[in-house]
Amino acid sequence: MAEETNPLNELLHEELRDLYSAETQIVKALPKMAKAASSPELRRAFERHLEETKRQVERLDQIGEELEVKMTGKKCKGMEGLLAEGRELMEEDLEEDALDAGLIGAAQKVEHYEIAAYGTARTHADMLGYRRIAKLLQQTLNEEGATDKKLTQLAESVVNYEAVQA
Ligand code: FE
Ligand code: FE
Repeated sequence: MAEETNPLNELLHEELRDLYSAETQIVKALPKMAKAASSPELRRAFERHLEETKRQVERLDQIGEELEVKMTGKKCKGMEGLLAEGRELMEEDLEEDALDAGLIGAAQKVEHYEIAAYGTARTHADMLGYRRIAKLLQQTLNEEGATDKKLTQLAESVVNYEAVQA
């Protein structure tokens, strides 16, 4: 297969391994973020995205099988840094609404990282002619975009509203 010898192929594999690491780190972080959230709506949004994220990991597993690439063994340092900042935020002595606002911001940084990374991987898969894989990556990309929008809505409704009440 021509794709096998394309130098872009190796790059795509690294991007996918990076994403796999990012997603598995997020699976560990989201329950803590859900627990730290005061707004029930925000907590539910984190819990829902946790379930969605688990399915995204499965999607990457499926892609790894199709490409015969081992997904494990790489650490996404970008996501490690973003999640470390999120933990720092949770350790701060913040008032409930301020913490919720901070959690939304931290989560949106994570989503934006994912949107950039999935968009790149999707484009590279497409350029290599992996249509099915590009489609799977696009599916996750759409979910990350929807999550980002939902978080913006929550920032504007739940958090600000409660801050005004207080
Ligand atoms: Fe994700
Ligand atoms: Fe996500």
